[in-house]
Amino acid sequence: MTDHAAAALPPGLTMLPEDERLFAESVYQFADREVRPLVREMDESAKIPPGLIARLFALGVMGIEIPEGLGGSGGQFFHSVLAVEALSRVDPSIAVLVDVQNTLVINALLKWGTDDQQRHYLPRLAADMVGAYALSEAGSGSDAFALSTRAVADGDQFVLTGRKLWITNSHEAGVFIVFATVDPAAGYRGITAFLVERDRPGFSVGRKEDKLGIRASSTCELVLDGCRVPRASVLGKVGKGYKTAIETLNEGRIGIGAQMIGLAQGALDHTIKYTGERRQFGKAISAFQAVRHQLARAATELHAARLMVYEAARLRDQGRPFVNEAAMCKIFSSEMAERVTSLGVNLFGGNGFVKDYPVEKLYRDAKIGQIYEGTSNLQLDTIAKNLGLRI
Ligand SMILES: Cc1cc2nc3c(=O)[nH]c(=O)nc-3n(C[C@H](O)[C@H](O)[C@H](O)COP(=O)(O)OP(=O)(O)OC[C@H]3O[C@@H](n4cnc5c(N)ncnc54)[C@H](O)[C@@H]3O)c2cc1C
Repeated sequence: MTDHAAAALPPGLTMLPEDERLFAESVYQFADREVRPLVREMDESAKIPPGLIARLFALGVMGIEIPEGLGGSGGQFFHSVLAVEALSRVDPSIAVLVDVQNTLVINALLKWGTDDQQRHYLPRLAADMVGAYALSEAGSGSDAFALSTRAVADGDQFVLTGRKLWITNSHEAGVFIVFATVDPAAGYRGITAFLVERDRPGFSVGRKEDKLGIRASSTCELVLDGCRVPRASVLGKVGKGYKTAIETLNEGRIGIGAQMIGLAQGALDHTIKYTGERRQFGKAISAFQAVRHQLARAATELHAARLMVYEAARLRDQGRPFVNEAAMCKIFSSEMAERVTSLGVNLFGGNGFVKDYPVEKLYRDAKIGQIYEGTSNLQLDTIAKNLGLRI
């Protein structure tokens, strides 16, 4: 092939253009400098210091796709993926705060928000307001559209009543996208999305979960007790909330894939360093072929997962179909992250099992990737649907 013909081919998926490479590097440097020293304390206290959240806003990663004219960074979805990956190398809890803000909340507002809603919320989400996305309930997780939170029209208002469970960012959030049904008899066609501000009468943030992993990320119950919101707070159309939910979660799954490749990279980096330093039988343990092969396999799986995540994100930015790729990248990267972090724990030996070393936390953090934004079984359902199987 001539040089000219080779230059005309698209670059490899992991060969990032200069601006994206610099962006990812700057987010990683921030994470290394500002987040790493706080990771253990945040994990133990299950809290993110407000000062750190303010620094994430200042860095520009809380409003990545918001246009510059509205105070955001004017980036693409792919930049959100890069930011989530870079932050997850250091702390997947901080990464999911950024992930929900960008891939769910801002994403939904950019796609479904009216001009007024965008002008009202986007500058605040870029500057200092955290957002949350409230779909799940105690009785409706995988079967999300069986939700029972009611929205009853009353003049130019809706009255919301019900409870939401497992809502990420709810301790910090100023605005919540809340899914409720205007007509339970209509099934999924009754589901409607609302923008609910934290200080609305009748709205409160309830119990905070005490979790296995991503402990610093807040996960709380929400209580809506006759919470009145203006009709103008409907996001999208009445009865079309299912579409908002499906479409944002399809994209959000790519963000979870990014979280999983980032944390697996973090675990692999720690493990490569440790196995080079730890000596047994007179050698670094990384000199043993069995260990080298395990690390080589981990690196291979991580590379495959990264290609899948980047491919899904690029397809999304190009406006091409990506739902199957998003489901595939989420299940593959979350299972890969569990394997890679588990190997890290094994290769740290006893030190892998204690909190003085970083891999046990990443192992705990990895587990969530197979649960939220659709469990692995639900991803397999999506993938199977696209295989044209006979049933
Ligand atoms: C830390 C954390 C953060 C979260 N953040 C948010 C958030 O910000 N917003 C939000 O709305 N939700 C959030 N969630 C909720 C999350 O999306 C749900 O927990 C998830 O969708 C699974 O629902 P469930 O817990 O009710 O499990 P269930 O739906 O009860 O599933 C239990 C098991 O049954 C399997 N199962 C269920 N149905 C089927 C089926 N048809 N076929 C095969 N297997 C099936 C599942 O795969 C799973 O293994 C969060 C959850 C956690 C733990």
